[in-house]
Amino acid sequence: MGEEPATARLTRPTAIILFGSPGSGKGTQSKYLVEWLRIPQISTGDMLREHIRAGDAIGLAIQERMRAGSLVSDELVNQLVLERIHKPDATGGFIFDGYPRTPAQAEAMLRLLSGVGAGEVVIHLIVDYNVIIARISGRRACPKCGTLYNCVSRPPKVEGVCDLDGAPLVIRDDDREEVVRERLAQYERQTQPLIEFFRAVTDRLIEVDASRDRPEAVFERIKSELKDLVRA
Ligand code: AMP
Repeated sequence: MGEEPATARLTRPTAIILFGSPGSGKGTQSKYLVEWLRIPQISTGDMLREHIRAGDAIGLAIQERMRAGSLVSDELVNQLVLERIHKPDATGGFIFDGYPRTPAQAEAMLRLLSGVGAGEVVIHLIVDYNVIIARISGRRACPKCGTLYNCVSRPPKVEGVCDLDGAPLVIRDDDREEVVRERLAQYERQTQPLIEFFRAVTDRLIEVDASRDRPEAVFERIKSELKDLVRA
């Protein structure tokens, strides 16, 4: 039976932009895309958290804003992305998870992409507000390796413990409920309007309803939408 190959290749350098509110499944879909296309995930949230973990100058400068659920400066995020997309593993394409988030970032992104000769495709994951609150409040993370779990939809094998390294799971600082509400408010105010910007600048905007289906089914939809950009 014609079983689909597990991996595929982009036929030209492409930025796959996963766009959606916190809790819409960007991180999960990124992981699937990484496995399928063998291109790196570029998560600005992960990069910023790494600076906080390292306790370096950038980390110290941003930790209060991150803890409060506020966005950090466009200049910093654009600079981190600029450096990251010039690394050798990103030449064939990459996945943006959590970037761009403001009009200034979206404008900068287009310049960055033309600088490296990459096209773009935007995948908008649309999820109902109540589903998001329920998802995020069940979220747990491994402080050691960063793997994400969910008490309801993706529980670890042993409650409260990471499957991969046995570390006790934690609630990320910015997944506390009041912070989640602030992050959603920021999303609605600053990020959601970018959809109109994308509509104007790209003919590759894919809207996916990610409220009801399981993540695997959402990924199948994404794969079929990207069919003309890949070969096995
Ligand atoms: P995330 O893991 O993508 O939900 O990001 C967590 C936090 O990191 C956000 O609440 C912001 O404080 C910060 N952050 C991540 N990406 C960006 C971005 N593109 N622009 C500004 N702040 C960001």
